[in-house]
Amino acid sequence: MSIAGGIAKAAENVVSMEANTMQIFSRNPRGSGYKTYSRKEMDAFQEIRSSHRFGPLLAHAPYTMNLASEKEEVYTFACMVIREDIARMDDLGIEMLVFHPGSHTGIGVKKGIENIIAGLDQAITGQEQITVLLETMSGKGTEIGASFEELKAIRDGVKHPERIGICLDTCHVFAAGYDIVHDLDGVLAEFDRVLGLKLLRAIHFNDSMMPFASRKDRHATIGDGMIGCKALMEVIQHPALKELPFYLETPLDDAGHKQEIERIRKEIGES
Ligand SMILES: [Zn+2]
Repeated sequence: MSIAGGIAKAAENVVSMEANTMQIFSRNPRGSGYKTYSRKEMDAFQEIRSSHRFGPLLAHAPYTMNLASEKEEVYTFACMVIREDIARMDDLGIEMLVFHPGSHTGIGVKKGIENIIAGLDQAITGQEQITVLLETMSGKGTEIGASFEELKAIRDGVKHPERIGICLDTCHVFAAGYDIVHDLDGVLAEFDRVLGLKLLRAIHFNDSMMPFASRKDRHATIGDGMIGCKALMEVIQHPALKELPFYLETPLDDAGHKQEIERIRKEIGES
């Protein structure tokens, strides 16, 4: 969600749409600027989040950040952003920061992964409380992270793997060719075999406008895409997943999200 109106206002919105956690952008998602918050605003934010018992909060790094890149200015920028944002979000007491691993843009997966590892190593001190999440990607273009194996290679390579977890995006994994519609148990077993389910810390809960294994990344509102309501309700109620925080990234405004959350709660018998 956007925090243009401030982080306390965003938390108030969460309460009014009867959600119980939130994802914020760690800075302008398509640029580089960020806001600093006054003590007063931070206190108000912390007050809302604790009195309403929010689940773990997730910050999303900007889309403009490509830690896999070989281009010097792109890479230097990405290293700066991930370093600053891990520290800034950790200071705010945000539990997790998620980022798109990056696109190798022609240098190959292996080199791309080496760049990501070096970028994480200059950013993570090992003293943080925050967990840095690698996101499962659709595999569009030269995107890294469309397979569980690539995410494992990144985590295994860093100096502080204990600070790294995974965020599974339902739209992305479906588009990448993991069949959560017909074989959710099989996909989760595969995740467990390659990465270990205990590394799974968050779900980006989205339907997909694009078909299975299309390697295209277009989010749809829940039930209006190619994954469909039935399969998504099985995801949200799966015994291995239901305790995790779920974050909607569907193309709706706040009022639309309020209705979407209401519909989901109804579907799973929570209201
Ligand atoms: Zn994302």
